[in-house]
Amino acid sequence: MKKYLIVFGLSITLMACYQTVKEATVVEGTEVIEVKKEPSKPEETEIWEPKPKTVTIATKTGIPSDAIVLFDGSNTDHWVHVKDSSAVQWIVNKDTSMTVKDKSGDIQTKQNFGSVQLHLEWRSSPENKATNQNRGNSGVFLQKRYEVQVLDNNDNATYANGQVGSIYKQSIPLVKASAPTGDWNTYDIVFHQPEFSNAGLKTKSGTLTVLHNGVLIQDHFVLEGTTEYIGWPKNVAHGKAPIQLQDHYDNSRVSYRNIWVREL
Ligand code: MG
Repeated sequence: MKKYLIVFGLSITLMACYQTVKEATVVEGTEVIEVKKEPSKPEETEIWEPKPKTVTIATKTGIPSDAIVLFDGSNTDHWVHVKDSSAVQWIVNKDTSMTVKDKSGDIQTKQNFGSVQLHLEWRSSPENKATNQNRGNSGVFLQKRYEVQVLDNNDNATYANGQVGSIYKQSIPLVKASAPTGDWNTYDIVFHQPEFSNAGLKTKSGTLTVLHNGVLIQDHFVLEGTTEYIGWPKNVAHGKAPIQLQDHYDNSRVSYRNIWVREL
C-alpha cells in the first residue's frame, strides 16, 4: 500500500509540473518528459519532406503506374496451376476475361507476395443454376491461405460466414453488394500479411479490408488464421506466397478480368 501511495504522490507532482510548466522540458530523475509548445503559426505543423512518389492512372484501364498487371486478357503468363505448376488451362475469352475450366484446378501467381492492394473483377454465370455453395463458387486466396469468397448469392441462400464477400468462415461481410448475376463485380482488397517470430510464433495478425463494387464490406478484419473448410483457423509460420484463384470443381463457370496488384 505504501508503494502505491508513493507512485500516486509522484503522479500528482508530475501533473502539477505539467500544468504549471507547459512550455518547458520537465526533468524528473533521469526521465525527460518533452512538452511541446502549442504552435502559433500554420507553418509550424507543416511537413514538406519526404514527398510521396507520384503514381499516374492509365486513362483507359484505370491501372496505377506502380501496379503489377497479373491478367489483362492477353494471356495467363503470370499464372500456373497449383497442383503441378503447369500452364493454365482456364479459358481466355475474347472479351479480355478468363473463365474457370471445370476440374482443371486452382491457379496461382508465379510471383510471391507479401502485403498488397489487389484489384480484380469477377462474374457469375447465369447458366449456373445450382444452389447454396455450388452456385458460382470461386475465391481469392491471399498468400494461398486467406480466402475472400466469390459466390453467386443472388436468390441463393447460404451460411452468412461463407457468402459472397465473406472471409471464409471467419467474417460475415458488412453488406451484400453483388451485381446482378452475369454482370461484372469488382473486388478491391487491402491485405496486410501476418508476422511470425523466428521460433514460428505469430507476433502480428494479418488483416483484410475489402470493397465490393466500391462498397466497404470488410473493414480491416483481423485474421484469426487460415480460412479452413473444415476445422479452426491455423497459424503455421509462412512468408510471402502466391495469390490463388479457386476452381470449386462444380462447373462454377466464374470468370475473372482486369487483375492487378500493388505491393505495400
Ligand atoms: Mg470459394
